[in-house]
Amino acid sequence: MHHKASRKQIDAVIATVKIMGLTAKPIPGSQRTAIGVLGNKGYINDLNIRDLPGVKEVIHVTKPYKMVSRDFHPRGTIINVADIEIGEGKRPIVIAGPCAVESENQIIRTAVAVKRMGADLLRGGAFKPRTGPHTFQGLEKEGLKLLALAKKKTGLPIVTEVMTPENVSLVSEYADVLQVGTRNMQNFDLLRELGRINKPVLLKRGMSATIEEFLAAAEYIYAEGNHKVILCERGIRTFETATRNSLDLSVIPLINELSHLPVIIDPSHATGKRSLVPPMSKAALVAGANGIMVEVHPEPDKALSDGPQSLTIQGFEKLMGEIRKLTSFLGY
Ligand code: PEP
Ligand code: MN
Repeated sequence: MHHKASRKQIDAVIATVKIMGLTAKPIPGSQRTAIGVLGNKGYINDLNIRDLPGVKEVIHVTKPYKMVSRDFHPRGTIINVADIEIGEGKRPIVIAGPCAVESENQIIRTAVAVKRMGADLLRGGAFKPRTGPHTFQGLEKEGLKLLALAKKKTGLPIVTEVMTPENVSLVSEYADVLQVGTRNMQNFDLLRELGRINKPVLLKRGMSATIEEFLAAAEYIYAEGNHKVILCERGIRTFETATRNSLDLSVIPLINELSHLPVIIDPSHATGKRSLVPPMSKAALVAGANGIMVEVHPEPDKALSDGPQSLTIQGFEKLMGEIRKLTSFLGY
């Protein structure tokens, strides 16, 4: 709609869209209101809409995702977690912590250390999606309680994974950001359930998902009503076996063109190798990532999962020093 369009003109467009048998979603912006049209099977003849008073232009979006696209929402979305802002133009954030919560000592030691070194959020899995059923599956509710203790001690907001729709309400009692793992990116029941809560969701890219499938998965959460979605690239499967996955850094500028949602990078799962985490973290920030998420463990050799890719506390301290220099160079 034109920026001076009246409420009456907006309502008239919505009514016309409904008469056409389609759904209209008004998306108010600071400059103008856009009206998203959903529910069409193919190209829409826009003759009935285009000449209505107040309409500035009709943009046809031929993608499986619409509400998360830049076409619908030209300005970058900023997501607030506690007092931290994540998104376009904001200082890139750092999420740090172990792969899994293993014990009170382990999570508190890590939380206190990463807080002191400047991390913005604490990560740690309580429900772990492991490749085989005979490995450590996480401390579950006990792990969530330990994360709450770490938050109480450090003030760091918590990022933790939820694997099933049934556990969304339990995990959201403890988490500030709910993570969807790579193996669940297309668990549509889980995505829909997360669309009904009022907490940010960190959606990881499926290990074999295209960008279009990734954004369509985000659309599931968004369309259900939860607009707080943070995208996370964590490496994809390729023929290469020297690294755990192949980090696709081009998603940062590409998603910034296609979508208004924030994008962060997880260089730990992307590479699987501790020594590669600092250079890839810095590369992500230079490419324009809105943040990074790195695994840190006080004793990586004893970690119950993902030790080889976890930074030591000293390693994380060194990386944070480098990130500070880099973000100041980048103008934050
Ligand atoms: C994790 O972040 O601990 C995790 C399991 O990641 P991914 O789903 O990307 O493998
Ligand atoms: Mn892990």
